[in-house]
Amino acid sequence: MPDKIAVTRSSMPAYEEYCEEIKEMWDSRWLTNMGTKHKKFQNELEEFLGVEAIDLFTNGHMALELSLQALNITGEVITTPFTFASTTHAIVRNRLEPVFCDISPVDFTIDVSQIESLITEKTCAIVPVHVYGNVCNVEEISRIAQKHHLRVIYDAAHAFGVTYRGKGIGSYGDVSCFSFHASKVFHSIEGGAASFHDPELGLDLYRLKNFGIRGPEVVDGVGANAKMNEFCAAMGICNLRHIREEIAKRKVVVERYRSHLEGVAGIRLNPVQEGVETNYAYFPVVFEAEQFGADRDEVFMNLEEHGIMARKYFYPLTSLFDCFRGKYVAARTPVAAHIAGSVLTLPLYAELSLEDVDRICEIVLQCRK
Ligand SMILES: *Cc1c(COP(=O)(O)O)cnc(C)c1O
Repeated sequence: MPDKIAVTRSSMPAYEEYCEEIKEMWDSRWLTNMGTKHKKFQNELEEFLGVEAIDLFTNGHMALELSLQALNITGEVITTPFTFASTTHAIVRNRLEPVFCDISPVDFTIDVSQIESLITEKTCAIVPVHVYGNVCNVEEISRIAQKHHLRVIYDAAHAFGVTYRGKGIGSYGDVSCFSFHASKVFHSIEGGAASFHDPELGLDLYRLKNFGIRGPEVVDGVGANAKMNEFCAAMGICNLRHIREEIAKRKVVVERYRSHLEGVAGIRLNPVQEGVETNYAYFPVVFEAEQFGADRDEVFMNLEEHGIMARKYFYPLTSLFDCFRGKYVAARTPVAAHIAGSVLTLPLYAELSLEDVDRICEIVLQCRK
């Protein structure tokens, strides 16, 4: 039997390249707390992402959770349940009430036509997700936010390096949060960043990630500890050197998948969005069981039997997690519920061979009855 194929595989710089990058830390003994690697990584990212300013965090989740805290949001937050646990948990852990909006059946991001009907006098913010790197309708979200005086905090964990109309995706909204987890297109082992415009907000974020410390003898906020260490920053610096090749290789894999699966009855692929330079983060496939002749779970199990790990991503909806039992109903977001029950992301990483892609597609297509 051929080797197992994981759903993703972390990209790595050459071993020597990483060693070279961390060498000076052995001499300086400066391992964390915003050292030279942290500063360098931050500067390089601002440039690469095309944003005014960013701050670095231990992970994407803390960037999101602390951004909501820094903006002093209270009350209700409009968001979607078709996302990773982090988005909803960041809201709830700030003692905010998530109000779940349905998603677009085409690009899986928040259905902007439904946002206004969910706004109440308690609504303070919108937390949309750029799902699979697909860009939300940023113009409409911005119009609604301005009209109703709402903050917009994007979960951009999937959207590293994505541009819309030539602008970095992190330049939209009040804040955009990126994840550099090992499983993402771009990683720093663990890590994350928040991009923002307002320098005052930047100061608040900086303090919140460092215990609320303002100065050596002044602590005027109740902060957390969410600093990125120097080893993670060094990994990020190395990976950033190769990110364009990584994305180009992913593109070749995605095109191979498309050549097999495009136009197959009962299969829907990720849309190509106008004006968007994508990062090929994921390869989601929606299986409409009736037309395709097999449902998502059958395809998933079939692939598993052949040693191929696809992922039910996202499933279940965050609104249906056990920790929220009885609080929310899937019927309020029927599109999200349907997609969560019929989507599978297929293996995708830069080194995935085209022969493996051919084999994966063959197995998928053989599931049809
Ligand atoms: C990965 C991810 C996060 C959290 O990022 P971490 O760096 O793992 O904390 C948040 N939201 C979404 C949509 C993600 O995929």
